[in-house]
Amino acid sequence: MSNKPQYDYLIVGAGLFGAVFAHEATKKNKKCLVIDKRDHLGGNIYCENIEGINVHKYGAHIFHTNDKYIWDYVNSFVPFNRYTNSPVANYEGKLYNLPFNMNTFYQLWGVTTPNEAQAIIEQQTQKYKKNNPKNLEEHALSLVGEDIYHKLIKGYTEKQWGRKATELPTFIIKRLPLRFTFDNNYFNDTYQGIPIGGYNKLIDGLLKNVECKTNIDFFKDREYWGSLAKNIVYTGKIDEYYDYRFGKLEYRSLNFQHEILETSNYQGNAVINYTESQIPYTRIIEHKHFEFGKQKSTVITKEFPLEGGTKNEPYYPINNDKNNDIYLQYKKIAQESSVIFGGRLAEYKYYDMHQVIASALTRSKKVFAED
Ligand code: FAD
Ligand code: UDP
Repeated sequence: MSNKPQYDYLIVGAGLFGAVFAHEATKKNKKCLVIDKRDHLGGNIYCENIEGINVHKYGAHIFHTNDKYIWDYVNSFVPFNRYTNSPVANYEGKLYNLPFNMNTFYQLWGVTTPNEAQAIIEQQTQKYKKNNPKNLEEHALSLVGEDIYHKLIKGYTEKQWGRKATELPTFIIKRLPLRFTFDNNYFNDTYQGIPIGGYNKLIDGLLKNVECKTNIDFFKDREYWGSLAKNIVYTGKIDEYYDYRFGKLEYRSLNFQHEILETSNYQGNAVINYTESQIPYTRIIEHKHFEFGKQKSTVITKEFPLEGGTKNEPYYPINNDKNNDIYLQYKKIAQESSVIFGGRLAEYKYYDMHQVIASALTRSKKVFAED
């Protein structure tokens, strides 16, 4: 069944890309309809309120950016607190600060000065520096050496990605800072925080004047939904959009196990990583600490990695050569189509939130400049 277009834009997916695009389009007096197959808006930044705590239903989300424009943009919808992410790693029962900094080096080797730490790292990395590192393992060894690699990287990485570190691209580990100061801030960015009252406030602000429908899977009747609007913005999996004609893109998924505990403070930190391979989860999140919560009880989430794609939710694109080659074939036909593809799944990119927002703003600016 086809209809006369009632909307300027059908936006498939109510995550950050869809919500930012819808907001910008609405500002330009475009009529938008946002649909999402989940029973809520917000995509992976959605929070569920449990016991008065904003539970990050799809994993810990900490906003960080160097871009003042993006920071001011998100703060115009909801003020952010100054939460600083300082995860702690648990390896065989011993705790180490992250990212790799003077506190970590002291805990590992008892060294108290940057010179001593640098000397150990230099000695442990020397033999790995000779060749151009071609994979995550080689890159990590040439950067931080054997102790850090074996205690804090290898186990975590291989369970997170379900692949040997020698089969993974180097850029993944480049996300983690290495510094010779006593500074446990996980990010180097100027701006960082959590929306006061939770991420749903950001999504509600973005989608305030936009018509949205949940529990709608575009693919259940793509002809009908497509016929409702003059243009389509698509933020789901790009391979699914094209019926997997060039093959399936691989994703990594997570099984989130949430627990309510009758204690006010379970682990003393929002994020504790479990870096050994024997423990099946990668990290435990204690959500109240993101907002300095004082509730009587607490909610924790264990993240168990597993293969994603058709059966399990696709959370992380696996940007190795094989998948990137497949993606390029999809990208080529996507560029020739009038559909706008955006976000982590449609651009097959390991985007953080600020990057998705930047991408949606750039795309909307370009589209409306052409109008
Ligand atoms: P999504 O949020 O995935 O939204 C896409 C939406 O499209 C979904 O709601 C989906 O249901 C919908 N959809 C898909 N197919 C269809 C269909 N056929 N029909 C209808 N709807 C459909 N970023 C940070 O900056 N900091 C962090 O600390 C951080 N932590 C993260 C932790 C985890 C575990 C994960 C998975 C991601 C994390 N991110 C973090 C990244 C962040 O989640 C993303 O950058 C951002 O949310 C992506 O937005 P999006 O709109 O591209 O995708
Ligand atoms: N990583 C690691 N040990 C840790 C934390 C991270 O080896 O304790 C590696 C791992 O490969 C991970 C990558 O660094 O996938 C990026 O970590 P980040 O915390 O940015 O992952 P995300 O929050 O996106 O899951």
